[in-house]
Amino acid sequence: MFCLKQRTVKKEVEIKGIGLHSGEPVKIKLLPASDHEGINFVKDGVVIPATVEHAKGFEFSTTLEKDGKKVRTVEHLLAALYFTAIDNIFIEIEGEELPILDGSAIQFIEKIREAGIKTLDEEKIYAVLKDKVVVREEDRFIYGVPAEGFTATYHASYNNKIIGDRKYTYSCQKEDFENVAKARTYCFLEEVEMLQKMGLAKGGSLENAVVFEGDTVLNPEGLRFEDEPVKHKVLDLIGDLYLLGFPLIGSVYSYKGGHRLNASFVKELLNKKAFELKYSSQIDRPVFKKLVA
Ligand SMILES: [Zn+2]
Repeated sequence: MFCLKQRTVKKEVEIKGIGLHSGEPVKIKLLPASDHEGINFVKDGVVIPATVEHAKGFEFSTTLEKDGKKVRTVEHLLAALYFTAIDNIFIEIEGEELPILDGSAIQFIEKIREAGIKTLDEEKIYAVLKDKVVVREEDRFIYGVPAEGFTATYHASYNNKIIGDRKYTYSCQKEDFENVAKARTYCFLEEVEMLQKMGLAKGGSLENAVVFEGDTVLNPEGLRFEDEPVKHKVLDLIGDLYLLGFPLIGSVYSYKGGHRLNASFVKELLNKKAFELKYSSQIDRPVFKKLVA
C-alpha cells in the first residue's frame, strides 16, 4: 500500500507586504494546524475556511467572507499551498488583503519552505472527479473530466500580440511547477485608471505586476516567460480550485475563465457531487506518479 500523509507547516512564519488592490500594508502569519483542520484564514478572531461557500467577491481577485470579515486576494497563497501539498494551516491576517509580494506565488512558496513542512498522522484526502462537469458564462467556459493525475489548462484569447491566443497546461511536472509558480499577475495600462476608480489596484506597481501598454511590456526586466500571462491564469485557476478543500484528481480546461467562473466550477463540482473523496491509500499507484512532481 502506498500512502501520502497530510501536511502542515513546521513552525510559525510571518509574511509582510502590501495589498495589490487596497495598497495598504499587511502582515500575515502562517501557523501549523492538525489533521483534517483544512486551510483557514483567521481575521479578528473569526475563522474563515478557505472553501468556496465563503467565496463572495471575484473582482480581479478572490475574496473570502464570513461574519462580516473579509480576506481578499487569496488565490496566489492557495496555489502556493497546493504546490507545497499543505492540507492544514491557519493564516492569521492583519489587514483585509493578502500581500501581493512579487505578483506570483513563488515568494509564498519560499516562506512555506522556510517554515518547513511537517508530516501529520492521517492520510491525505483527494477529490477524485468521476463525472464531466461544465460551467459557462457568455463565451467563456470551464470543464473538468475524470483523469489519471491532475492537469489544469488555460486557454487565453486576447486581442493582444503578446498574450494572443495561447494555451498552457500544468501537469504536475517539476518544470510546470516552476513556470506556473513564478508567473506574475498582469494588467493593461488602459485599465489601471478604471481599476483605481473602482478602488482596485491601488498597490499595483511594476514591482508586483506585469503592465502592458498595448502590445508593449512596461516592466524594464520584461517577461519572465514569453507566455507568462497565460501561466499566471493557470496559477489563478489552481489557487481557486483549492477552494474545493481537497486537491483534485481530474483534468480541468478553462477557456478565458476568471475567478468568478473558477468558483462557479468548484460550486458545480459540489452541487453535482461529481467527485468522490478518497484516502491516498485508495488511489492507484500510477495515478500517484502523475500527482507528485
Ligand atoms: Zn492572480
